[in-house]
This record gives sequence, structure tokens and C-alpha cells, in this order.
Amino acid sequence: MNSVAVLHASQLVTLAGPKRPRVGSEMSNLAIIRDGGILICDGVVAAIGSSKEIARKARGSRIIDAGGRVILPGFIDAHTHLVFAGNRLDDFERRLRGETYEQIAAAGGGIWSTVQKTRAAGETDLLDQSKKHAEWFLKCGTTTVEAKSGYGLTVDDELKILRVIRQLNEQTPLEVVPTFLGAHAAPREMHVDEYVDRAIEEMLPRVVSEKLAEFCDVFCEHGYFDVEQSRKILSAAKKLGLKLRIHADQLSNSGGAKLAGELKATTADHLEKTDGQGIGAMKSANVQPVLLPGSVYALGSASYPRAREMIETGLAVVIATDFNPGSSPSPSMPMMLSLACTQMKMSPAEALTASTINAAYTLGRGDMIGSLEPGKLANFSTFDCEDYRELAYWFGFSQADSVYVRGERVWSGGLRPSAKN
Ligand SMILES: [Zn+2]
Repeated sequence: MNSVAVLHASQLVTLAGPKRPRVGSEMSNLAIIRDGGILICDGVVAAIGSSKEIARKARGSRIIDAGGRVILPGFIDAHTHLVFAGNRLDDFERRLRGETYEQIAAAGGGIWSTVQKTRAAGETDLLDQSKKHAEWFLKCGTTTVEAKSGYGLTVDDELKILRVIRQLNEQTPLEVVPTFLGAHAAPREMHVDEYVDRAIEEMLPRVVSEKLAEFCDVFCEHGYFDVEQSRKILSAAKKLGLKLRIHADQLSNSGGAKLAGELKATTADHLEKTDGQGIGAMKSANVQPVLLPGSVYALGSASYPRAREMIETGLAVVIATDFNPGSSPSPSMPMMLSLACTQMKMSPAEALTASTINAAYTLGRGDMIGSLEPGKLANFSTFDCEDYRELAYWFGFSQADSVYVRGERVWSGGLRPSAKN
């Protein structure tokens, strides 16, 4: 048996607790062990406790000294568009000059430009570009991500993206959970209703028969897919056995959160414009809200979702990066913690719960990841600080020192800057 013990974390943030998503005041309970240690056997947490206790149980194990750093479960990023080709640097500059989304699209930018680049990329090239993104996530302490298709918009290109997601899962230490988002936008060559039919009749059956996705998502928004079109696609996906996520109420209060409630979706994501009724609909159907402060920030908007109201209503709030080349080019969960606290007034503890255990439950993996408890995977990171609140307090750089997946170190900050002489 391969056994290793990590000792002397200033704070071992376990997030041990009830075996379900955390709500209300539970989101503030991180179950921290001071001077904590973990014993890991064959990639699984075998025991957790004080360093003294773990050292006693660890005879014969390899010992790693955490050196008084904070240990957290690996972050779980429940909303990303990880696989795409190229970037959107020109859009970025146009937006800074004050151009509107319509002007940028007319100049050849916007989502369509990423679709063209992603269609043109071969599977190997796309995989190489995506591996770089996967490495960025790991460096920031994220060990599991959800990743959506949606930059192909043809049967072949959507399947190509989902196959790249499968290969990332096989070839990198990052665990990647696949979502089919064929309904990200309608392609220029087709009327939206015709595209909805194609997604239902041609794409979904292939995605399901080739087992390429666990979830189906739709961009439910005026000018993309209205509530009726979204309902049609998501109902078809549900019948085929996929679970549901919805891009809801990002740009307008268009009924996305209510639709998520009606269809008993696992998550409703974005929710910048969701009102009290939408929050009520999510509450009565146990839908988890996934809040994406990075896209609000990067678009230069001030319209953050109503996180406090959602927590006080008893929703099991999640925060995620929405990593994508247009509206949220950041894979950094620590940056999202900063935004959740400063812009949405979540506490550092609530933000950590939202980016670990609550996120794990939205991916159907709450029994395996998201907290450090015996029997769960030993996915965790050490951070160069002594107090977990520093993760949300210092911002703009990663404090991750080492990142572990199934007990194996997959990334390390490595060399310390040397002293001047
Ligand atoms: Zn998104």
C-alpha cells in the first residue's frame, strides 16, 4: 500500500459536515483543524486529525511537512468553457474603447470568432491548447472542473470538443466533467429553430450514445435561446438521461431561473438579473445557484448576483470562474474568492464552501470530493499563508504552494526566489 502523511498545516480546512450541500449558516462552518495532518493510503484520505495523532498512525509512511501552511480541499470549478481555440484580445481592446457587443460582433469578434477558430483547429491542436488551460487551473489549486462544449455548433465540431474534454480527463491530472452546450448560440448559417431541431435530433442522441457528456446546458437569453426553445432542448436531454444546468438571467430577467425550477435542473448559472421570484423557484426545486463574478468583473459591469439574498433564502450557493475567452478569461478560483467577498459580500468561509463542497454536489461527486474526510479522494492544496481568510484577502496572484490529486503532487511552486548577495 502506498501511504503518505502530510503534517503541520497551520489550518487544515476539512469542510467535514453533513453529506449534502451546505446552506445558510452551515456555509460558515469549515471544520478547521489547527496543526492538522492527513494520512493518505492509495490516493484516498485514510485519517484526518491533529498532526500528533496522524504522526502516531503514520509509522512507515512517507512524511510531508506542510510547514505551517494552510491546506484546503482542491477547488471545484463547476462552470467553465475550458476548450476553445485562440483568444479574444481584439474584442478586449474594442470593449475598453467603449464599443458595444453589437459593434464588436459586426467587426468579426464575439463568440462567432471563437467558433470559427475552434472549428478550424484539428483535434490534436485543440487538445494542446486546452492542456495549457488545464495547467492554469491546477496551478491555482483547482483539481476538478466542469467543462462545456459550445464553440463548435455543428454535430462534428461539438463532438470534437467533447472528445477533447475526454482526452484531457485521461491525459492530465485535472478531473474534467463534461457538459453538452450545443445551444450556446445559433450558428450564422442556420435559423435558430432549425438549429434547435438539429441539436435535439442529431446532436443529443450522438452525445448520449457515445457517452460524451453528463450534463446538458442551454444559454437561455433574449437573442440566443428563449424560454420555449430552452425548455425543448433541456426536456429532450432529460429524457435521454442527462442532468441539467442552465445559463440563466445573465443579461435580462428572462425567466431562466424559473425554468430551472420547473425542470428541476441541478444548477442555474449566472443569475445577475434574477429577482425574488426566480430565487423562490430555485428554492422550491432545490436548484443550486452557480454565481460567476469573474464575468461581471471582466465585462466592467457592477451588476453582481444577489448572493446574500440567496444564502439567506437557504440556497446552496456555488461560485465558479466561467473561464472563457470572451467574458471571463480567468481560471483562478482565488480571484473569484476575492470578488465573492468584496463585490457580493460573502464571507471568506462562505466563499470557500461555495467553491469546494457545494460545487462538488452540483457535479454529482459530493461523496468523493469537495471536503477532506476519510474515504474521499486526497485532492488538496497547500497555500503559502497561515489563515484561510488570506485566500480571499490578498488578490491578483496565486498563493498555491503545492497541489495534490489522489495523494500525488501534480504541481509545485518549486524554487523560492533566492536572496540577494
Ligand atoms: Zn458560461
